[in-house]
Amino acid sequence: MQNNPQWSLDHVRALLAQHKRPEVAIVTQGGPYRAFIPEGEHVIRLLFDPQGELWRIVTVHHTLQCRTYCPDLVRDTDPAGVYPPCEICTVATQREDWRLQRAEYALIYGHLCRTSDASGFWRPGTTYLMIGRSRLICSLRQFLEQGVAQQPAQLLTMLNPLGAGPGMVVQVTKGLNGSVKIPALTAQCFPSVALGEWFIPLEHCWIGPEFNLGEYHAVLAEITGQQQRSQ
Ligand SMILES: [Zn+2]
Repeated sequence: MQNNPQWSLDHVRALLAQHKRPEVAIVTQGGPYRAFIPEGEHVIRLLFDPQGELWRIVTVHHTLQCRTYCPDLVRDTDPAGVYPPCEICTVATQREDWRLQRAEYALIYGHLCRTSDASGFWRPGTTYLMIGRSRLICSLRQFLEQGVAQQPAQLLTMLNPLGAGPGMVVQVTKGLNGSVKIPALTAQCFPSVALGEWFIPLEHCWIGPEFNLGEYHAVLAEITGQQQRSQ
């Protein structure tokens, strides 16, 4: 057998370099616990992500297990790219199912200090990647603007997970006319938050930064598979 030129130290080095590139890092495995913010009154410590971001907004189609960017929407921002026509949008319209429509979501890191609606998926003392509808961001921005102007020191202690800090009161009502109100910081301080390997940048949480054809087909298969089972 001939010696394979690929069986070289240079190739080993190239492999190592490739896997050092951040986009190759497997960040979709693990990651933080995720929770959709439920209805009720919650005390949440909003936290900086490792890069200093406080929120991320994504527009996606999602099912319980999978999510994807909408290829029709991605095409608008990248006309030179090749994307399939979005069959999920078509199915959503045919079934008149608003849950399948693409929608805008806000992602934040939050430590749940207290809640009126604790459950197995929403446990006080847990840090979550919290997912809310985009209306969360309007309330959050108002709250942060007020905090920066009126209580800057307290605000900063809330955002830094390494120290003790107050929480923010978040009142959520769901439904068509649902709302998110964030009236105040708590007077009470809560302990520092334990971070771990799961604490990855928001940019990589829930869905990566790029359109992924495999994710698109996974969502499509899940919703068309459900239809076949229910027939
Ligand atoms: Zn779509």
